[in-house]
Amino acid sequence: MSQPVTILGATGSIGLSTLDVVGRYPDRFHVHAVAGGSRIAELVDVCRRAHPKKAVIADESKYAELKTALVEAGLGDIDVHAGQAAVAALAEDPDTQTVVQAVVGAAGVAPTFAAARAGKRLLLANKESVVCGGGLLMRTVRDCGAELLPVDSEHNAIFQCLSGASPKSRAGARILLTASGGPFRGRKDLKGITVEQALAHPRWNMGRKISIDSATLMNKGLEVIEARWLFDFEPSRIQVVVHPESIVHSAVEFEDGAVIAQLGSADMRTPIAYSLGWPERLDGHARRLSLTEIGRLTFEEPDTNIFPLLRIAYEALEKGDGSTIVLNAANEIAVEAFLARRIPFDAISKVIQDMLARISEPFPQSVEEILALDARVREETRRRLENASFEV
Ligand code: NAD
Ligand code: MG
Repeated sequence: MSQPVTILGATGSIGLSTLDVVGRYPDRFHVHAVAGGSRIAELVDVCRRAHPKKAVIADESKYAELKTALVEAGLGDIDVHAGQAAVAALAEDPDTQTVVQAVVGAAGVAPTFAAARAGKRLLLANKESVVCGGGLLMRTVRDCGAELLPVDSEHNAIFQCLSGASPKSRAGARILLTASGGPFRGRKDLKGITVEQALAHPRWNMGRKISIDSATLMNKGLEVIEARWLFDFEPSRIQVVVHPESIVHSAVEFEDGAVIAQLGSADMRTPIAYSLGWPERLDGHARRLSLTEIGRLTFEEPDTNIFPLLRIAYEALEKGDGSTIVLNAANEIAVEAFLARRIPFDAISKVIQDMLARISEPFPQSVEEILALDARVREETRRRLENASFEV
């Protein structure tokens, strides 16, 4: 029987790749509901392709526009809703068990928790909700009988490397989290970098926010935190290894010295297909890997002097308090300001360090407290950016 799938963040890079994989298996899957942020034309395109029963736009002011555009496209039968609460409501909709969470940023926290609480099979690309949700999210997943399948390529790889490992072997293992190094690997400073240069990732074609995170190495910092919670590994057992070819998506080293890695071409359809089909494997139609064509794979240490955010992310995690939420929120605002050409690239890490020094809170006890801390940090970071002057 065809399985209904809900895609949150359907208009984004991961959302569209998911649509591509789902569309190749019409007998196995159909799209039940989709949600997008604010762009109507893209969401209507998605609806044309997938013809879901429901469509949600997070931006409440766009409700009428979406409704009209769908009627004009001959899709007036789609049930339309708007607002952040409507996105979270899709995540717990009883008509679907499978939720692909591909919203960008902390806007994904509420829908991720909603899906976890409703005991869904949660295909999670939105790493920011793991960074902000931490142990509270993992407890919710466990207590509510949800199934969390990581879509982030490294975490999907680690999930595969750990499958079949007993709890005892996991306890003695180490995660080797690979990083491409981004577009500025090997540079001696980060001065004068333009938005266009920062968005041009050498290996992956992704959304704007994660592309900037990859260029600052904040993405890897967020992924260390993500791995810490998803797999219950202490930070000291997670090592970042720069691997510019992006062929080894990550690896796990076991106590006996055996290293198990997952390899493949750099195409998110592979981890998406893996999570959709799990425990069975599906073909995501990514390019097949030819090891002889590739010839050699290289590995190096990350340079945390030039890219301090990776070190700062470890420090925030080691503190074990609300610092990871501060880190994430300040980063979102700083990246937004860089993309709007209001601050230079090398100011992103300074803004984050400044906010980490200013705000120190214990780890929140509830989702509401997480959202409140996130909102407070955003607000204060915006205010700081208005008052401080950064040379562009
Ligand atoms: P994107 O910018 O291409 O897409 C983001 C999606 O979220 C869009 O559909 C957008 O409309 C939607 N959105 C934005 N704000 C929203 C809101 N407030 N409420 C609901 N929806 C909202 O981003 P992306 O590259 O697809 O990344 C999505 C998530 O997946 C991020 O957390 C990213 O870190 C993670 N991820 C992406 C990749 C990749 O290759 N793109 C790889 C690994 C992990
Ligand atoms: Mg990744």
